[in-house]
Amino acid sequence: MVNKKVIIRIIGLFLGVICVLFLDQATAETFKTNHYEFSAGMMWQYNKQEKETINAFVLRLDDIWSSVNLLCNNELPPKIRISVEREGRLSIPLREENKILMNSIKIKYGLRDCLTIIAHETTHIGYYKISNGRITDWENRFLDEGIAMYAMYPYEPDVADKKTLSFRIAKTDFKNGKASLNYLRDWKNNVQDKLVAFSNSWRLKNPNKEPSLDDELNAGVNSYYTSLVLIEYLLDTYGLPKLVSAIRNIGKGDSQSKAFQCALGKNIEEIFAEWHAFLNNSK
Ligand SMILES: [Zn+2]
Repeated sequence: MVNKKVIIRIIGLFLGVICVLFLDQATAETFKTNHYEFSAGMMWQYNKQEKETINAFVLRLDDIWSSVNLLCNNELPPKIRISVEREGRLSIPLREENKILMNSIKIKYGLRDCLTIIAHETTHIGYYKISNGRITDWENRFLDEGIAMYAMYPYEPDVADKKTLSFRIAKTDFKNGKASLNYLRDWKNNVQDKLVAFSNSWRLKNPNKEPSLDDELNAGVNSYYTSLVLIEYLLDTYGLPKLVSAIRNIGKGDSQSKAFQCALGKNIEEIFAEWHAFLNNSK
C-alpha cells in the first residue's frame, strides 16, 4: 500500500512538471514585425500594465528600426531579434547574432524605457557592422556608446530636458578630467567594470529600491552622457557622413587618430581639443 502511494505521488509530481513545462510553451509569445522578432517569454509573468507596455512598444518597433537605420547610414541588418531576460540590470546586444537581450526590468519601468533601450541596443548592432566589429575595442567604446545614446533621443518624452542634463554631466566630467581622450579610451576600467559591479550588487543590497541617477552616475553612467555630448558635437560640427566614414576607417584597420584625420581632416587629439574649448565656453 505504502509503495503504491509513493508511486502515485511520483507520477503526480511528474505529470505536474510536464504540465508546467507545457503551459510555459503554450503561453510563450513571439511578436513579429517587419524588422524585429520579439520573444516576450511567458505572458503570465506580466501584469496588466506590463502587457499594455509590451503591446504599445511592439507597435513602434519598426519606427525604431527606421530611425536607427538612418543613424547607421542605412546599413542596419533588416532583421533583429529581441528576447527578455529576467536577471541583472543591464540589457545586452549580441552584436554578431543581430540579437538583443532586453532586461525585463525595462518592461516594468514602462514604454519610454523599452523604446529607448531598444533604440540604443539596435544602434550597437548597426555600428558593429559598419566598423567590422572594431567599435567594440575598448578604446572605441566611447564612440559606440555615445552614438547609441544619441539614438535614444527620438523616444525621450522631454528631449530638451535630456540635453540639458547630458550637457551638465559632460561639463562636470570636463572639470574633473573625465572628458579627456585618455579617460574615455580606458572605458573598461573607468566605466564597464564599475558598472557591472554596480549592476551585480545593487539588487542584493537594495531589494526594494531603484537606484537614483546619482547612484548610477557614480557607477560610471556619467561617461555615457559625456560621450553622447561629444557625438552631438561631432554630428553638429561635421555631420553624420563624416562620422560614419571615420568609423568605417577604423573598421578597415586605421588607428583611431588616422581614421578621424582621413574622414574629418583633423586627428582625434585636435578634435578633443576643439570639443573641450566648446564645453569650456558654453554655459
Ligand atoms: Zn550601450
